[in-house]
Amino acid sequence: MISKLMVCRLFLSLTILSLTPTFAMEPLQIHYINTGQGGSTLIIGPDGTSVLYDFGVKFGDIALVLYLHSALSGKKQIDYAILSHRHKDHYYGYKDMIDANINVRVANFEPDGPELDSSLINRNWYEPASKTLAGKVRTIPVGLVVSLGDGATMHVIAANGRLLDGTQVDVNDENDRSIVLFINYKNFQYLIDGDLGGGTERCSGHETTQVDVQTFVAKTLLNEKLITAENGLDAMHIAHHGSESSTPLRYVSLVKPEVGIVSVGNPNCKYRHPRRDVLSPLIEDVPKVTSLSGSSLSQCPRINRFKALYQTDLGSESCNTMPTGKETLNAGFVSGDIVLTTDGIKALKVSTSGNLFFDGTLSRLGPQCETTYCLDEYNPTGDSDAKTCI
Ligand SMILES: [Zn+2]
Repeated sequence: MISKLMVCRLFLSLTILSLTPTFAMEPLQIHYINTGQGGSTLIIGPDGTSVLYDFGVKFGDIALVLYLHSALSGKKQIDYAILSHRHKDHYYGYKDMIDANINVRVANFEPDGPELDSSLINRNWYEPASKTLAGKVRTIPVGLVVSLGDGATMHVIAANGRLLDGTQVDVNDENDRSIVLFINYKNFQYLIDGDLGGGTERCSGHETTQVDVQTFVAKTLLNEKLITAENGLDAMHIAHHGSESSTPLRYVSLVKPEVGIVSVGNPNCKYRHPRRDVLSPLIEDVPKVTSLSGSSLSQCPRINRFKALYQTDLGSESCNTMPTGKETLNAGFVSGDIVLTTDGIKALKVSTSGNLFFDGTLSRLGPQCETTYCLDEYNPTGDSDAKTCI
């Protein structure tokens, strides 16, 4: 049924940083760059303000640099570099970006937390950051709001378990320190949360040692009126590459997304991301989850089926030796680089490059397609100018 869909506020803030627009406003863009088993997401605001959230993995560096050269239209600098958390599948490509003469202008940010004394992170993150225009890495302030132009804003919702509404969740796992960013552009709402945990959930069978920060994030978004209980998010990052550690149904039921994106590589036999028991309930009317040891999804909070789920690459397709239910699931459109663009009023367009990799080498082409989704608040009926959206 999914394939049918495939056609090929003002808030409490600590600071508002603004760039003076020097050119005509463009649509808001969110690029999921296929760098392999890790993450790298480029956000470009209507006024051209750019935010790179994570920098991919070893071997993904060439893909990242090539992609940035193209997506930044030869600008050779980004405004904000934000490391979600200090794991190498998220910071590894940073040095290569700096070595390729792509500078960082405003800030290099990371979450606070115990210092990591590792030559790998020093060499690939802290040292190259100190050579940029923005200078050395700083702790991101929760509550920071960055203007992206035309009323679009980026909000720092959480970092290191500290939330915008003052809630503090005790976290010990580096994944759970992930920085959470919320993008608001008129009728469009999007959230990215790195490898943040959602805790164990008996009804869906999710088992993890990570704690539940995601549900507190959802409650904060609602409490601060950044999303409404009715409409929720339009698009969301599927945290931790589709790991069982994240995306519990109690969280999804609160944020109500329509489109999900998984950043995942091929192969990743060690992790078997993305997990079938995580993705299946999001996109199947009758989830094909069979080994959740007596659990019953009917006892979980109800969610609406996603309109679509995209994943940057195949995941651990070649190493499915686990019992059904714990294996990987290529349930999303396996799409290569994924670009979301929106005017913030009517629609969200999702375009895919089909650039798939195996061990860092371009291996084959997946589907290249473009689909347009109506934003929650937009009603195409009666709009004579309506673009086709689903
Ligand atoms: Zn990761």
